[in-house]
Amino acid sequence: MSSTFEEQLSKYADLIVRVGLNLQPGQNLLVTGVGSSVEAAPLVRAAAESAYRAGANYVDVFWSDQYLLQSRLRYASAESLNYVPAWRLKALMEYAEQDAALLAVFAEDPTLLADENPEYMAVQRRAVSEALKPFNDYRRKGTINWTGAAGVIPGWAKQVFPDLPPDDAVAKLWQTVFEVCRINEADPIAAWQSHIGRIMARRQYLNAKQYDALHFTGPGTDLKVGLVANHRWLGGQGETTQGILHTPNLPTEETFTMPHCERVDGVVTASKPLSVSGTLIREFSMTFADGVVQNVTANQGESILRKLTEFDEGAARLGEVALVPHSSPISQSGILFYNTLFDENAANHIAIGAAYAESVENGTKLSKEELRAIGGNDSMIHVDFMIGSAEMNVDGILADGSAEPVMRNGEWAFDVM
Ligand code: ZN
Ligand code: ZN
Repeated sequence: MSSTFEEQLSKYADLIVRVGLNLQPGQNLLVTGVGSSVEAAPLVRAAAESAYRAGANYVDVFWSDQYLLQSRLRYASAESLNYVPAWRLKALMEYAEQDAALLAVFAEDPTLLADENPEYMAVQRRAVSEALKPFNDYRRKGTINWTGAAGVIPGWAKQVFPDLPPDDAVAKLWQTVFEVCRINEADPIAAWQSHIGRIMARRQYLNAKQYDALHFTGPGTDLKVGLVANHRWLGGQGETTQGILHTPNLPTEETFTMPHCERVDGVVTASKPLSVSGTLIREFSMTFADGVVQNVTANQGESILRKLTEFDEGAARLGEVALVPHSSPISQSGILFYNTLFDENAANHIAIGAAYAESVENGTKLSKEELRAIGGNDSMIHVDFMIGSAEMNVDGILADGSAEPVMRNGEWAFDVM
């Protein structure tokens, strides 16, 4: 007998709370919304229920809504877009310092803000990034057990399944989310544990190799990405500084590490569109020299993409490089989700902007300046975009300059276990 939607949603919420967050009894849980999360209330409520059943002390929800942001961008004065109430940072820091768990709900209509003024959007985004930087810096030190998960909303479903009536599109997108999150397996939590085990074995292999660089080749791509010395491949599971094992992002298929932000050279072409604050950027390429973006071209959204790379000094450099086999369930679904949480787990990807301190040995103990000195990028942004496909090869370059295959035609070229 197949499960009802409510049963599936409740299994999904349990997966988020138990595998994603690994919420500890007595912990507070802070749920932050990204985009039009008010419409994602069914998921937020299910997650809160699951969290209380797991022993949460208190569940707090910071709602946000794309429609409110849209009104502000259209009708508020340009100067006022810099304003961020101070209590926002205080509240985040209060929860962070009490070791609260953090759930980010992604529930965004990827095109709702497409026609808004890009200058205004950049001003507003910068103001929020600057105001919340202490919290994001704190978070990057690896002290918080957190995860990100998606809630289906009508505006998102319509983008993914434009030919279906709205209710059918929502239902179909939920079923797709459940499928790629392995919710329909007999025991989703056990299925995740063995999946995570396989990712951890890949990590171990790559960590032992300590490649000096990766060389990506594919249609429109010939890119060499230097890796920092003593880099750590991460993915599957994260461990907080207090030792809580959690799974950042559900679903997750990637293993990722720290590029050297001064040793990236060549050209890279995205293999999927990128959604930035409600605008789609399509068919884009970037060229790099000595780690810095030299040129950006896009068939759609070029000015938004260029603005993004000019956001700050680090926005034109890489902070993450990630490997995902083309056979991942998300890739096999053949669906473009217009949502990085899913699309980044369909393909090899890189990110412009901040590096994750934990992706280098002892990185969380380094200051920003120390991290930057060893090649770890610093920025107020972190934006992933997809470069992998069934036609991509990846070579690992060893310190002596010799190369060995890491991926061939989008699949792992080495065995583990
Ligand atoms: Zn990633
Ligand atoms: Zn990333």
